[in-house]
Amino acid sequence: MSRIIAGIDIGGTKIAAAVASPDGRIIAKQTFPTEVEKGPHEILERAMNIVGELAREAPGDLTAVGVGCAGPLDVVRGLILSPPNLPGWDEFPLVELLKQRFGVPVVLENDANAAALGEQRFGAGRGFENLVYITISTGIGGGVIVDGRIVRGVGSGAGEVGHMTILPDGPVCGCGGRGCLETLCSGTAIARRAREAIGQGAQSVLSVYFSNGPEGITAARVAEAARSGDRFAGEIWSETIKYLALGIGNIIATLAPEAIIFGGGVAMAGEQLLAPLRQRLIEQVKMAPVKDIRLLQAGLGSESGLYGAIALVADARRDKA
Ligand SMILES: [Zn+2]
Repeated sequence: MSRIIAGIDIGGTKIAAAVASPDGRIIAKQTFPTEVEKGPHEILERAMNIVGELAREAPGDLTAVGVGCAGPLDVVRGLILSPPNLPGWDEFPLVELLKQRFGVPVVLENDANAAALGEQRFGAGRGFENLVYITISTGIGGGVIVDGRIVRGVGSGAGEVGHMTILPDGPVCGCGGRGCLETLCSGTAIARRAREAIGQGAQSVLSVYFSNGPEGITAARVAEAARSGDRFAGEIWSETIKYLALGIGNIIATLAPEAIIFGGGVAMAGEQLLAPLRQRLIEQVKMAPVKDIRLLQAGLGSESGLYGAIALVADARRDKA
């Protein structure tokens, strides 16, 4: 019987699972909502049942499982350590439970690192050995790949690009710091900045959403209004690019990667985000060859992490060989 591997991507809103050939070709996959209120054991049980079903359909001998999960986590001990968006996952022994169920090796990685790897192997990052992946959605996460490998750093603390300080004394961040990139450029932050200004009387086509409840103003609507020529939304968007360029400029000055790949909801704006960002970076960064650094939209959409979970297994094999 042929060999198959499985990948699981666990996030706060959805979980994706797939079985694939050992070279990473997905054979079958399934996505379902996380239902965080059910707690880690019930959620994992469902994910394992789905992997079991997919493996039976494949068919083949399951030989390894790769998992990307929201952090913080301990990859050495295989534990999930209280992620803010997975309440109740405190020292949760994810790896041990998966090993018990399937009787195969299990590799764990944080979700942003997994997504970076997924893009490098199967997405927009193919052919690059040095890249940085940045996801801009409700928060901002990142993963760094140098010489084809994930950079983890001490305590797996590397790659937290959302928490670079951009504006000293800026808005308070969920991490406890101030003025982090995430507090200025995440989808949540873009919407918040627009709501605050409209609440103070700024004129915009977005005001119509505001009057039905401020939460009607989302980052996607700000982007759309900016595209349609709304001056206020255009200013919010430009300010976002300005802050983002500070963060990306620092990354370029430190790593000069071949590519920076943007995923997450805000990156769906594509060239509306990337074209002005490139322009600013060319003006701003002097010591690195910015023109040779590609700024790209993620190629795998919401599946970067799932492909990354599968790529983890291939990497673990290579490390052992
Ligand atoms: Zn922060």
